[in-house]
Formats: sequence, C-alpha cells, structure tokens
Amino acid sequence: MSSARLIEVTHRNGSIHLPGVGLWLDPQKGAEAAFISHAHSDHVARHRWTLCSLLTQRLMAVRYGKGKGEVMALEFGQPLEWQGHELRLLPAGHILGSAMLHVTRLSDGATLLYTGDYKLRQGLAAPRAEILQADTLIMETTFGLPKFVFPPLEEVVAALLQFVAETLAAGGTPVLLGYSLGKAQEILAALREARVPVMLHGSAMKLMPVCAPELRDLPEYRELDLTAAQGHALILPPTGGHMLQLRSLPGARTAMLTGWALLPGAKYRYRVDEMFPLSDHADYPELLETVAQVQPKCVYTVHGYTREFAADLRRRGHESWELGQDNQLELRIEA
Ligand SMILES: [Zn+2]
Repeated sequence: MSSARLIEVTHRNGSIHLPGVGLWLDPQKGAEAAFISHAHSDHVARHRWTLCSLLTQRLMAVRYGKGKGEVMALEFGQPLEWQGHELRLLPAGHILGSAMLHVTRLSDGATLLYTGDYKLRQGLAAPRAEILQADTLIMETTFGLPKFVFPPLEEVVAALLQFVAETLAAGGTPVLLGYSLGKAQEILAALREARVPVMLHGSAMKLMPVCAPELRDLPEYRELDLTAAQGHALILPPTGGHMLQLRSLPGARTAMLTGWALLPGAKYRYRVDEMFPLSDHADYPELLETVAQVQPKCVYTVHGYTREFAADLRRRGHESWELGQDNQLELRIEA
C-alpha cells in the first residue's frame, strides 16, 4: 500500500499533530511548535514556536499583544526548511492573513496540505485562496452537507444594500452583525456602493490600522457612538453588551451575516430581522472542488460535518476519515 509513504497525521487532546514534522496545527493548548492558520480566537494559543503569515502575526499582536514565544512569520509562497521538510504558506481566502500550510518531506517528496478555515471563491476582504496538489489533505468541512450552496456574492450584496437603503429611508438604523475580524471588514467593503456613513464597533475599529491598507475603496467609517448613530449603518459583533443597548435605538433593524442564513428558521434562532448568507467558509461545491484540485490519496476532515463529508468522499471513491469530533462548532457564529 502506498499509504505507508504518506505524512503521518494524528489527533491528540483535541488537536491535530504531525509527529514526523514536529508540528501542531491550530492547537487549542500551548505547544512546542505550532502552525496558526489565522487570527480568530478559537485558533490562537501561546506556543514556544509559532509559524504564521505576516498579516496574522500583526493581527494577533493587535488583538492579544505580543506573546512570549518565538514567531516565524512568512510571506505567502516563501519556503521554509524545517526538520527535513519544506513548509510553505498559501492564501486561504477566509479572512485577511489566513493561510493554508503545504508540507513537502524532502527525503521522498511526500506532500500534505492543511486548509485551516478557507473558501475558494473570491470574497470582498481577503485575497483569493491558492491550492497546491498534495498526497494528504486535511480540510475544514464546516458546511459539508449538499444543502449548503451559497448564492453568488453579487446577489447577497445586492440584498444587503437593499436592506440598508430601505431601513434608512424609513428613518431607522440598519445594524449589521458580524464578528470583528473578517466579517466586519467584509461587510464594510460590501457597503462601498451604498454611499452611507458607517460606524464600526471598537473591537473592529482597533483592527483597521492593519486591515485598511490591505483593502481598497472602503466607505467612510468611524467608531460606534450610539448617541449619534442616526443616518449610519452600524457594524457590530453579534454578542456583547451593546446588543441590549440596541433596543433603545429607535428604528433599529438587525441583520446577521453568516453562512447559517441558509438554515430554515435561522433568523428566529438568532433573533434578528434578516439573515444574509455572507460566509467566509467554503460551501459544499467548493469542498468537492478542493478535493478535485488537490487530488489527494487520503483526506481528513475537521470542523462541522466531518463524519458526513468523509462518508460522502468515501462513496465517491476517496480514502477519507474524520479527525476527532467537535460538532459543537456546528453553529459557531464566525461561520
Ligand atoms: Zn476562522
């Protein structure tokens, strides 16, 4: 069997480990050596040695301060030799700075690709993903069921702009809910055409010195001031004390931007007026497209519908396994 030559993948204590490479992938706990795919808090921990993209390093420094460990920050495509392997980061298309990790074992050329959180389609606030062939593929499968097919981006943005325009025309305040790193910048970029002033929550505002130079043609924006919100579109994270204060805002209409908008009844579940399926994850056709492009001999699935998507791939003739289980992430809000 050729699988004896594949780069070994294990799952221990809830984290992915490549024992032959001496590297943990987005570990939840402090590790000796870790790759961090992007700066979302569920992937950030303190490690003795961290590999990440340059932008992820800067975003982590703004969000969490400088850690004690050593950080090796790479440009996309820049190779790094590490314990008999060549490591390379590729844009993952998920949020600014998000990276996939490609590993080549120098002794025999065996390869592995770890996607981290990703999407293939072009979004509004992150460079497009790049895929490389690999023998082993570890992929996230947040939306790994056939029912998850996102509409074209232009359609989603048009519906969002209509919601904003109608709410303002009625004298109300559109409140757009998305987490501060990634979704907030994507919503801001989507409002480019709306020509309305925007207020951003402080947690997103804090990241703008790093994000803004990477994004073009942003609309006018300033930090949230609920006493002067009239006439603005507001971009806020979906949780926090401000959610209660919003009730006192006259004519506030809320919209959540997430891939889970595709689920029936989602707006009742999230208690918002509207839902728009703006996601920074791959949908089901993109997951299949990823496998077709990578042409792996073996696939491991992580996050969301791991079991279902792995079984789906096996029916399609691929060797495929779920890596651990964290189905509580099924409805994680950052999706
Ligand atoms: Zn993420």
